[in-house]
Amino acid sequence: MAVCDFVALAAKGVRALSPYKPGKPMEELERELGLSGIIKLASNESPVGPGPAALAAVAETAKGIARYPDGNGFALKQALAAHHQVTLESITLGNGSNDVLELIARGFVTSDNEVVFSRHAFAVYPLVTQAVGARAEVTPAKNYAHDLGAMAAASTAKTRVVFIANPNNPTGTWLSADAVESFLAAVPEKVLVVVDEAYFEYVDEPAYESFIPRIEKHRNLIVTRTFSKAYGLAGLRVGYSVSDPQVADVLNRVRQPFNVNVMALAAAEAALGDRAHLDKSVEVNRIGMKKLTKAFEEMGLAQIPSAGNFISARMPKSGAEIFRGLLKQGVIIRPIAEYEMPDFIRVTVGLEGENDRFIEALKNVLANA
Ligand SMILES: *Cc1c(COP(=O)(O)O)cnc(C)c1O
Repeated sequence: MAVCDFVALAAKGVRALSPYKPGKPMEELERELGLSGIIKLASNESPVGPGPAALAAVAETAKGIARYPDGNGFALKQALAAHHQVTLESITLGNGSNDVLELIARGFVTSDNEVVFSRHAFAVYPLVTQAVGARAEVTPAKNYAHDLGAMAAASTAKTRVVFIANPNNPTGTWLSADAVESFLAAVPEKVLVVVDEAYFEYVDEPAYESFIPRIEKHRNLIVTRTFSKAYGLAGLRVGYSVSDPQVADVLNRVRQPFNVNVMALAAAEAALGDRAHLDKSVEVNRIGMKKLTKAFEEMGLAQIPSAGNFISARMPKSGAEIFRGLLKQGVIIRPIAEYEMPDFIRVTVGLEGENDRFIEALKNVLANA
């Protein structure tokens, strides 16, 4: 009898899917190279780590992990509602904000629909689009940034969702509040516009604004946020969206009942109340970003100005080669060929010593080119 091909049996969208490639884990590189003291600047995690309040909340709630979490995440939602001045009903919690992005696709998009996003945009947008068998309409970028004019023009009667990353990963590019507002005015209300603000806390640009205060004005607006970046809780997996309550109702219908775990709920709530720690993370990033930017400049490498906690720079040879050269020196960064940027690398801003080590290692790799 013929051997069963289960990939051929997979849902149509899933068959063509290639799994998300995460940054290389440090333990894996340590095993491979027999090195220790490896640094990882590959996944836009906070180099500062979690704050004391979040850690205390994890320790405290660990005692209660025999019980299911609060499926509605009431305490965290209440804290978020107060923080953002929105109603509880407008919040949807996710196992990371990626979970919410997937809920949006599962809740609203079918194989008859189209989803619009930009070239060089966050990899999860094509993933969730394909997983539901929908067609992705990928618009050209303008200087590596989203071209909102092209994105508005690309939306058709079949378009159900548009993903906008502001700032975008891996390019670090950001859009002004005026530009996003004009975009919202240009698309029909039945097109859901997702504004992904994963790096909101880091942005220090006068023309930039969060769109959470505009969810009442634009009923088709969904803003996503995460505790994975500036709050330093990537390993716990917790994020959320703020939207019209009716949209949130749909997302909650497809959500797994206990999608956010006990420790993540408690840590996120504590982190939200720990302004001092957030400020510290943002300040460490500001200083580190300055150093990396200056170093790339001195090395004569073109870079894309970034509003996030990472920066992408163009290399004289392929990003994959630079990646391998840096690995041999115990430094993990991210080649971004899968974002159609084969001669770029993306590096996450680290602690001072980590940034110094990255810069030294990069100089060595380029000198041996
Ligand atoms: C890191 C990132 C996220 C956050 O993902 P989580 O699932 O919350 O960890 C979302 N959007 C973008 C653009 C990102 O870079």
